[in-house]
Amino acid sequence: MKPLAAGAAPVDTVDEARSLAAPFTAIDLAERHTAHNYAPLPVAIARGEGAWVWDVDGKRYLDGLAGYSALNFGHRHPRLVEAAKRQLDAVTLTSRAFHNDQLGPFARELAELCGKDRILPMNTGAEAVETAIKAARKWGVEVKGVPAERATIVVCGGNFHGRTVTIVSFSDDPLAREGFGPFTPGFATIPYGDTAALDAALDGNAVAFLVEPIQGEAGVVVPPDGYLREARRLCAERNVLLIADEIQSGLGRTGRTFASEHEDVVPDVYVLGKALGGGIVPLSAVVADDEVLGVFHPGEHGSTFGGNPLACAVGLEVLGLVRSGEYQARSAVLGARLRAAVEEGAPAGLEAVRGRGLWLAIDVVPGGPTGRETCERLLEEGLLCKETHGQTIRLAPPLVASEDDIDFAAAALLRVLG
Ligand SMILES: *Cc1c(COP(=O)(O)O)cnc(C)c1O
Repeated sequence: MKPLAAGAAPVDTVDEARSLAAPFTAIDLAERHTAHNYAPLPVAIARGEGAWVWDVDGKRYLDGLAGYSALNFGHRHPRLVEAAKRQLDAVTLTSRAFHNDQLGPFARELAELCGKDRILPMNTGAEAVETAIKAARKWGVEVKGVPAERATIVVCGGNFHGRTVTIVSFSDDPLAREGFGPFTPGFATIPYGDTAALDAALDGNAVAFLVEPIQGEAGVVVPPDGYLREARRLCAERNVLLIADEIQSGLGRTGRTFASEHEDVVPDVYVLGKALGGGIVPLSAVVADDEVLGVFHPGEHGSTFGGNPLACAVGLEVLGLVRSGEYQARSAVLGARLRAAVEEGAPAGLEAVRGRGLWLAIDVVPGGPTGRETCERLLEEGLLCKETHGQTIRLAPPLVASEDDIDFAAAALLRVLG
């Protein structure tokens, strides 16, 4: 093979490329050759199994982040790996120009899990949110009768729905927005948890209320009791779609299949991602009834990789795990155990704990070590965590964690916060 560019060393094999890279560490190389749109903790992971990962030197860590809940079922869950391998030996990509034998069974299972008619498969969470926004706008014009180009989607302060230009158009995080305008119009922001503000915002041009049942990136913010139920009632009354972004909160993370269930709420539209792909492939979906997803006709929306057979094969196996109910139960039990251990230990550096199921936020006392510094100390203790904001650490270990694993996490937290 010829060198790619004048002056570049010829690289004939992947092994040769690796050996050329050998003088540099994995971290050096990533820092030199990738955009610095993240600030990773100084650990390079080389292997994962269940709730644990190993770095390039063989040191073991408990994964306290689980890929922002993409790894709800742990690293390399045997059933998911088996499903992926089986599909790798059959066919991996067809595009939607043709049918494949995996999409239908996956779609039926997912629609059934949500109690809806259909799904629209995409890949990343942001793409699924974009899809839900497009569906809501088109539904607004074609079904609700909102004048063209006038549809409003109501969103909440502190939201996180992804990183596309349209999605950051309604973010209120300055870091997510600055320099990225001009933005997409058509969104109205109200405070999270405020039913009076929602009541006022749902005017005749409102087509949807897009909400996280628990705000993850904002710091695992659980809304006041009754909020989602009142949102459900108001949306039904005003003929507005309730869109639940369950990308991070769904598929067992909070102790239920969906976080909306804690208030017995069924949204009109579910937006799912992250754990749906089992931590193996990107797989997201919008799930709704015919009235909503029926607005899409051939050519109006799509994705080359959306609904690919490899992702659907893994997704179908993920839904089997979700159906068992085992992980929801584990989340509830393990979350209560971790929370009790941290609260009872009452370390000096702890300001507050909140969350639901095995999804907790810990606020550290202001003036002491920051969230980032605390995560760096936890790393030394063998627990991988990530701060969300300055003083908040999110804890979301894989739901396959054992009670001993949770006790390990609690002990590390008490040592570092103590
Ligand atoms: C992660 C996340 C997204 C975006 O998903 P990506 O796969 O990163 O595009 C959207 N909404 C919520 C609630 C999320 O947690």
